[in-house]
Amino acid sequence: MTKPPHSPSPKAPGSLEPALTVPRAEYWRVDLHAHTIYSKDCLTPTAALIERARAVGLHKIAVTEHNRLDGALAAKRLAPDLVIVGEEIKTTHGEIIAWYVQEEVPRGLSPVETVRRLRDQGAVISIPHPLDSVRSSAMGMETVLTVIDAVDALEVLNARCVRHADNGAALALARLHGKLMTAGSDAHTLYEVGRCALETPPFADNARAFLAALQYAVPVGSESPFWPHFASTWAKIRKRIAPVKL
Ligand SMILES: [Zn+2]
Repeated sequence: MTKPPHSPSPKAPGSLEPALTVPRAEYWRVDLHAHTIYSKDCLTPTAALIERARAVGLHKIAVTEHNRLDGALAAKRLAPDLVIVGEEIKTTHGEIIAWYVQEEVPRGLSPVETVRRLRDQGAVISIPHPLDSVRSSAMGMETVLTVIDAVDALEVLNARCVRHADNGAALALARLHGKLMTAGSDAHTLYEVGRCALETPPFADNARAFLAALQYAVPVGSESPFWPHFASTWAKIRKRIAPVKL
């Protein structure tokens, strides 16, 4: 019997789950990368992010603050059905992003040690904007190649990449190394929420099911305009002038 075109391919032997046969029309839209006021370069209140995520039709949004977990946990308490708890961690050589993080991983560790700590707690691990040629926080090819075998995925579509070609290079690298793909808006303003996302089959709220769904993920959306970057700069200045109450 021939497979209908919307069905995902059969799973490879040894993969996590039996073949999923969810029609594409029932796929979720999932933004795997977003910040709130808990991040130093963002002023978005937690409740506003949640409201916006629902308004733009996201089924899930991952809150991935810089180097802390409390913002994601606060969001999860407000909207347990919607929020995935994540963290974006600055290592000595670029950033790593992870989901289903149980215990905060501090900034400043090596990429290898950061991945080890995330792996030990069963998190799903990706490298955000890995080849962004503009952002200093991007890992860059040389370091990516040292940890690519240890991570689950590469972020192949980040709406804050200024150069589309940098997302394209990440996609090519993920394909070359057989890595799963993740995507997200990297929203630091409400406007950006959901600009880039993944379409995935529905999944239970745990790391294993999420990882299985990633095998069928389709990145969607396009890069944001440049102006939200100014909003992040303003957020940093604003917080230096007067600390915000969390
Ligand atoms: Zn980010």
